[in-house]
Amino acid sequence: RLSERLTRVASYVKPGAIVADIGSDHAYLPCYLIHHQIAEKAIAGEVAKGPYESARNQVVQEQLEDKITVRFANGLQAISPEDLVDTVTIAGMGGPLIATILDQDSDRLATVNRLILQPNIHAKAIREWAIANDWKLVAEEVLQEDDKIYEILVLERGKMTLSHTEALMGPFLITNAQNEVFRLKWGKETAEWTRILEAIRVAELSTEVQMKKDELEDKLKIVKEVLGA
Ligand code: SAM
Repeated sequence: RLSERLTRVASYVKPGAIVADIGSDHAYLPCYLIHHQIAEKAIAGEVAKGPYESARNQVVQEQLEDKITVRFANGLQAISPEDLVDTVTIAGMGGPLIATILDQDSDRLATVNRLILQPNIHAKAIREWAIANDWKLVAEEVLQEDDKIYEILVLERGKMTLSHTEALMGPFLITNAQNEVFRLKWGKETAEWTRILEAIRVAELSTEVQMKKDELEDKLKIVKEVLGA
């Protein structure tokens, strides 16, 4: 059975799509999309030998070789315009890594009109990448599975602008700020930031740091006086 997380990613794939799943690991998502007759064809891309072998074995085991091609490649190098891929999924990685993958070899996205991205952290990096590269959000979702919280961002071609708040928290997600998982996510994040700020405050108060600060300020003053600066 596919995880709730990947089932939700799959729900944004349009019927008849030709999908490339980049960083596919076991190719569970492409297999699900073909079995459920959602996608017509799929490519599973993997950059690591172990996961690539797992993907190949899974596709053979499920007898889907005629519908799913597994490629050993870095990011978007797994696809080329002849594949006529219209949908790219990238799931289970950090937002900055997903943005980096999309940024490299972005000419390979020529036939693609939908990106379904599932960052584990820092979705902001993807929203910023989207603004800079003329993709616009058409849907967002936040979900919890096994004590982890995930976001799903769906993008289509087009321009968008986002406020600071929207870039950080998601333009669709903030319209439902009462959502329990959304509140839990930002509750956890803010608790962590508060913990860091408290640690910084304690460090500033420590005598050692204070003495170092006093010493540097003192030396700065002396030398500046001599230099007439
Ligand atoms: N997409 C699956 C999921 O959501 O369950 C697997 C997620 S797994 C944590 C991340 C996978 O992405 C790993 O198998 C890793 O080898 C692969 N990966 C990381 N960077 C990649 C890249 N530049 N190109 C292709 N695959 C990559």
